[in-house]
Amino acid sequence: MFDTKEKNIDELEQAHIDFISTVSHELRTPLTSIRGFADTLLTSYDRLTPEQRKKFLLIIKEQSNRLINLVENLLTVSKMQSDKELMIYKKVDVIPFIESAVQMMRSQYKNYNYICTYGKNLPQILVDTDKFQQILLNLIDNASKYSPEGSNVCIDVSQNFNENTLIIKVIDHGIGISSGDIGKIFNKFSRVDSPLTRKIQGNGLGLYITKNLVEKMGGEISVQSSDKGSEFSVIFKAAAADDNRLTKVKE
Ligand code: ADP
Repeated sequence: MFDTKEKNIDELEQAHIDFISTVSHELRTPLTSIRGFADTLLTSYDRLTPEQRKKFLLIIKEQSNRLINLVENLLTVSKMQSDKELMIYKKVDVIPFIESAVQMMRSQYKNYNYICTYGKNLPQILVDTDKFQQILLNLIDNASKYSPEGSNVCIDVSQNFNENTLIIKVIDHGIGISSGDIGKIFNKFSRVDSPLTRKIQGNGLGLYITKNLVEKMGGEISVQSSDKGSEFSVIFKAAAADDNRLTKVKE
């Protein structure tokens, strides 16, 4: 008994050390790049062409965005792990949320085709709307960034009458995930390491957060993938007519 407890503490400590080391690494890479390009601009401003200056400023902006994303994701993870996260549930139709997420993605990924297909008379679901929006954005963002420019990204919403559930599928025709990696992608800070993914920015927190939020709201998430693309499915129970819960603090 004593041994197991001690082992658990050791494991927790190790997880904590690993976490700090990963976060430090994730922070250091963009910070080093920002400092390097800012230094070059300061020391060699007059010798650089306007194009070079613009290029360096764009890198600084891109790396700052990367830092902001990381910090936002870390704050979400820390809120998720605290015991006081407030879930504000609302019964909603999903289509307006999908349309709004797609519109946001269209402004970011201008050359992609987003195709939405909806079943008829879809049931409402009971979700925290901000968190539901975050789930959609994470999945559609991944489907876009892990696909070549100009690809189709499909969002299909249907109902399973037998199970009384609503199924949201985000389907892409991108680089796919190998069977050896697919089991790891929902882990914290987990990224597939390949020449293709190395070129794409990310911190490996999006799917960890997504899965956690889906499950916290009583849903399920799964993925199927091949070298022709990936399909992420999120399933929620249809809201019951008499379910009027509005707020709930995480147990
Ligand atoms: P990241 O910030 O790296 O995108 P995620 O947690 O969202 O982190 O995803 C974890 C990893 O899963 C990604 O780094 C990528 O290797 C893989 N992945 C996620 N979505 C897709 C997708 N639609 N197609 C191919 N690979 C994906």
